[in-house]
Amino acid sequence: MMNIVDNIRTIRDQIAAACTRSDRTPEDVRLVAVSKTKPAEMINQACQAGQQIFGESYVQDFLDKADAVTGEVEWHFIGALQSNKVKYLRGRVKMIHSVDRLSLAKEIERQWTKIDRSIDVLLQVNISEEATKSGASEAGLVELVRGVAQLPHLKIRGLMTLPPYCDDPEAVRPYFRHLRELAETIDRLAIPGVEMKELSMGMSHDFEVAVEEGATLVRVGTAIFGERIKR
Ligand SMILES: *Cc1c(COP(=O)(O)O)cnc(C)c1O
Repeated sequence: MMNIVDNIRTIRDQIAAACTRSDRTPEDVRLVAVSKTKPAEMINQACQAGQQIFGESYVQDFLDKADAVTGEVEWHFIGALQSNKVKYLRGRVKMIHSVDRLSLAKEIERQWTKIDRSIDVLLQVNISEEATKSGASEAGLVELVRGVAQLPHLKIRGLMTLPPYCDDPEAVRPYFRHLRELAETIDRLAIPGVEMKELSMGMSHDFEVAVEEGATLVRVGTAIFGERIKR
């Protein structure tokens, strides 16, 4: 039986160590516990370890269990998102990490306008340009930023990426570094309303490298909750 509480402590220690190695403060890195496909009981256990932010990828799975979570949690939506499902997330998530096209951003705007609230978003970039991965192309990123910046209920907080899977986490370091450089480039454009403070990057097998390269949000699932059944 895996111990979620111990796993979270271990990961927090690893984040702190990676911060020390790279001259960063651990307070600048937030752990997003990726609870997709996992039941509410496991999320409640993680809450007992002081975990507050949870990442979900599948809308239906999220809706099925969210009400059974008893702790004070902050939900982040991190997965590929179809526009017709945005309405189900309305008012229920604090941040969407996976905004990769203007049409999706406009639907988020439409839904959050209805409740007169704003939502934090990250723009997902397909750094490796893999055809199978979602994310805006690097070439279209600035145009996307400018478009989303026009939508008053969306607050652009930074960038997110999902690099190719490599057994050796060192192999993905250049992708993480590149995401940080892209954020710096966009920051220099000083587009009104656009903040580039958050870098959502790093998963179970490579979050330490991501922290060394500047991640402020690491999305860790398997290392906390164990393997998922493929869906
Ligand atoms: C599932 C998922 C994660 C977590 O992956 P693990 O390898 O289980 O840590 C992180 N980010 C996204 C976008 C995901 O879909």
